[in-house]
Amino acid sequence: MELILGNELSAKLREEMKVKIDELVFSGKRRPLLTVILVGDNPASKTYVASKEKACVSIGMEHRTIRLDGSITQEELEKVVEEQNKDDGVDGILVQLPLPKHLSEIKTIEKISPEKDVDGLHPYNAGCLLTGRKGFVPCTPKGIVAMLNSIGIYDLSGKRAAVVGRSNLVGKPISLLLQKMNATVTMVHSRTADAASVCKEADVLVAAIGKEKYINREWVKPGAVVIDVGINRMENGKLCGDVDFEDVKDIVSAISPVPKGVGPMTVCMLLANTLEAYERRA
Ligand code: NAP
Repeated sequence: MELILGNELSAKLREEMKVKIDELVFSGKRRPLLTVILVGDNPASKTYVASKEKACVSIGMEHRTIRLDGSITQEELEKVVEEQNKDDGVDGILVQLPLPKHLSEIKTIEKISPEKDVDGLHPYNAGCLLTGRKGFVPCTPKGIVAMLNSIGIYDLSGKRAAVVGRSNLVGKPISLLLQKMNATVTMVHSRTADAASVCKEADVLVAAIGKEKYINREWVKPGAVVIDVGINRMENGKLCGDVDFEDVKDIVSAISPVPKGVGPMTVCMLLANTLEAYERRA
């Protein structure tokens, strides 16, 4: 069984991006800049924003965090986004989700200029992914493809893939990306009948449901590659995925663990998208 270690892969990719940015600076160019907008004081969001800042620093990318009071109006928030759209020195804009309940996530994301939408959540970029045009791919699904590539999987012709979960953030985009790799993809969700036997036919299984160790060996085809996107906090305070790692590890050919799997790749792909935005704008 091969472990697909996102922490090791992301360290390698970050090092490559650092070299690229050092070269840009050496040739007299500015550094790429990522703006993160944080509204309110959700503790989890604060932690995520801090890890994004740290990741930027690690590769020599500039970051700007705009902290806004949780009582800000929709209009005021959109004005802040528009200022960042207009700022020529800004390459990527990310609005940390979730927003406080009185604000609209959809309206806010729609205000981000698509060429700075490094989270890939703007409907324009979602449409690009759907229709095979060049746009920004959401970070977690993009990271999953990089993880598959890292174990030599580029083409899934003749193979079956199952994606458990159909969110805009993970399930839907990864199903399109797997299709692009020529897999025959089945989407599994909470209304799927006999989900375990559907998944048991899959050569590649992606789990993104947010349920602690929900997927066991009854769901997994022997020899399958399993990507576990879930991040769940157990009663003992430790993190675990949607897949019962101990139960399936002996029958899979490769699996991503939680932690040290998909999580680090998501932040890494945010950096990659921001660098790409910089290069496209240049
Ligand atoms: P989400 O928006 O809550 O969507 C969950 C999906 O799972 C829904 O489509 C739901 O189906 C489906 N589902 C729920 N229970 C199910 C079941 N018993 N059987 C089959 N499908 C079921 O979640 P998300 O944002 O995609 O995130 C999923 C998990 O990934 C969470 O643990 C999240 O923390 C994690 N995550 C990790 C990263 C990372 O960087 N590692 C990034 C993003 C998310 P319905 O549509 O029918 O309700």
